[in-house]
Amino acid sequence: LTLVEKKTQATKATEMILIATFVDSPYNLGGLSRVAEIFGCSALHISDLGVLKDSAFTSVSVTSESNLNIVQTPPPILKGFLRSKRAEGWTILGVEQTDSSIVLGDEKAPKLPKKVVIVMGTEKTGIPPDVLVECDSCVEIKQWGLTRSLNVQTAAAAVLYEWRREWGDGL
Ligand code: SAH
Repeated sequence: LTLVEKKTQATKATEMILIATFVDSPYNLGGLSRVAEIFGCSALHISDLGVLKDSAFTSVSVTSESNLNIVQTPPPILKGFLRSKRAEGWTILGVEQTDSSIVLGDEKAPKLPKKVVIVMGTEKTGIPPDVLVECDSCVEIKQWGLTRSLNVQTAAAAVLYEWRREWGDGL
């Protein structure tokens, strides 16, 4: 067995945008940068680009941010952004446990939308209700344990992994 060498070329970006505007912790934002870069998101939206200098961010992001398009989209302008993307033909997908969420990877469920804007919630209270109604649908990761929810980085990784499983290189 040999370890795979680090790739020299950045992953080709795809029509998959990750919204982390509601994520507060620099540590979680660093993890989301890493996950978004690794799975080839075309952009990561966060509320304040200042966090990129935070040592908690960089300790987890491991320079992924330099290979990723990170955009400042604070809460007041997010709804407008989501609506403009929908008008351009994108589907807005909330990642949240709701009473009407589709279970991720369910064999009876439709594939994830190919051209997709993926919205994550805050660590404490999830996606705010006024943004939840902007989502075309929601997807949830099935849980077996008693703990209420996954860490937001973990949840994002599961969804991006599943998108890649369904769409491959997305070409
Ligand atoms: N609704 C949660 C919020 C905290 S988890 C609660 O009330 O405890 C932070 C974010 O991670 C959520 O908003 C969601 O985007 C994501 N998340 C965590 N676990 C999830 C799951 N099982 N399915 C879908 N999203 C999840």
